[in-house]
Amino acid sequence: MPFSDLGLSEKVLNAVEAAGYTEPTPIQAEAIPHVLARRDVLGIAQTGTGKTAAFTLPMLTLLENGRARARMPRTLILEPTRELAAQVVENFDRYGTNHKLNVALIIGGVSFAEQDAKLTRGTDVLIATPGRLLDHFERGKLLLTGVELLVIDEADRMLDMGFIPDIERIVKMVPFTRQTLFFSATMPPEIERLADMFLHNPQRVEVARPASTATTITQRLVATGSEGHAKRERLRDLIRGEAELKNGIIFCNRKRDVALLQKSLVSHGFDAAALHGDMDQRARTTALDAFRNGETALLVASDVAARGLDIPAVSHVFNFDVPHHPEDYVHRIGRTGRAGRAGTAYTLVSPEDARSLGAIEALIGQPIPWLDGDLTTIGDAASETATRHRGRSGNARRGSRSAAAGGRGADKSADRNLDKGAGESTDRSRVRGSRGGSTAQRADSRPTPEPHREPVREGRARDERGRDERGRRHEAEGDTPVGLGSHVPAFLLRPVLAKKEK
Ligand code: AMP
Repeated sequence: MPFSDLGLSEKVLNAVEAAGYTEPTPIQAEAIPHVLARRDVLGIAQTGTGKTAAFTLPMLTLLENGRARARMPRTLILEPTRELAAQVVENFDRYGTNHKLNVALIIGGVSFAEQDAKLTRGTDVLIATPGRLLDHFERGKLLLTGVELLVIDEADRMLDMGFIPDIERIVKMVPFTRQTLFFSATMPPEIERLADMFLHNPQRVEVARPASTATTITQRLVATGSEGHAKRERLRDLIRGEAELKNGIIFCNRKRDVALLQKSLVSHGFDAAALHGDMDQRARTTALDAFRNGETALLVASDVAARGLDIPAVSHVFNFDVPHHPEDYVHRIGRTGRAGRAGTAYTLVSPEDARSLGAIEALIGQPIPWLDGDLTTIGDAASETATRHRGRSGNARRGSRSAAAGGRGADKSADRNLDKGAGESTDRSRVRGSRGGSTAQRADSRPTPEPHREPVREGRARDERGRDERGRRHEAEGDTPVGLGSHVPAFLLRPVLAKKEK
């Protein structure tokens, strides 16, 4: 079916042609006519299916009639992360070249003043993350009573990140008569409940679940020991052994591991940037741009930060950790092998990962082959690694940056320092600064106890709105124990008087 059969306006069709798209993707072909008919749509689709254009193209067509008023946006798109929000803006820029629409991006980490100015000018399309949107609302700078169309994108990720109460609040501020488009990659019961609540007689549009992985991706499991240093060493060996590696995304399950691994890689002479939810917006944008334009070969990232990012040519994905949710595996490795290109995805697997790995293989319906020996072989590999580590004690060599992606002779003592727990920031920055210099060469391999960390309450439990301890909102990201974690409140430890039996 050609785009011209979908009912899109002339201006939009011209922009689509200029973008080089010849045919709508299945989600576009199904959803666009319903959006244009002003129906509510429940779209079950993941990123990579063309779902962003499935709502931006008809929205552009609908917005051709009418004008924006100050502080009263006509349409509102909610996204879970700043990067996804920025990507939607790019879509409006690309397909809206023939329109004169005001598009405002309201995300955390950037100044209020500029965003205020945009809102004052009148906004046709407001693209926002929930926390910052509510901040503007609470400051009296925004009225949502003029919203004709609301898009809730990546609803399941919003749920993971604890944003649902924010979303419920926002939806209450938008007129009941609005049109609603609701997208989610998966439909767990909580999301079904929300869809029932937010949508009126919706048209359900579903494209193939991400249960299958592209056939252009070569997937391999890589057996490793569980300790951080063993995993990092295995990863470095893998990267060095990949002659075809042009660029790669390395996924970690936790934010603090993203930062740690990136520093470790850099200290070993690799060319790596980090992307996780605790970085400020400028740093996130810089890292992403550097990776996109090829200045940085490796991007170490967390799931939330990297979710849905559209980076067309990624040759390799490395799962430093096996993801806890099997769907995340499909999302992660889907960063490579895009648009028919060949890609390679390696997953480091330690003995603790058996369950998560089983869930992934069940989801994708196939076993993933091991690269060179399964977990039964890692006893030998781990002891060999440990011996090598001991052998190098007191004999740390200066790193030789033989290649952009890290030389084999790079200074490994740096990594030992990095193994010492998240509290040693001073040591770590010295390691980074001196790269192979004397401070990096501490050969002390005694384990240092992990500094005490207060348990952080996780996503949904944590004030549901992603507020930090100072009450500011931020983009939450799972790095945390469930419920109260290891912290037991004092009142729970008080003895309880048992009732006497009568
Ligand atoms: P999305 O699922 O929205 O993240 O889109 C994934 C990628 O598909 C983006 O790079 C889009 O530019 C691209 N894309 C969207 N629609 C089409 C289309 N009809 N034909 C080819 N590529 C498309």
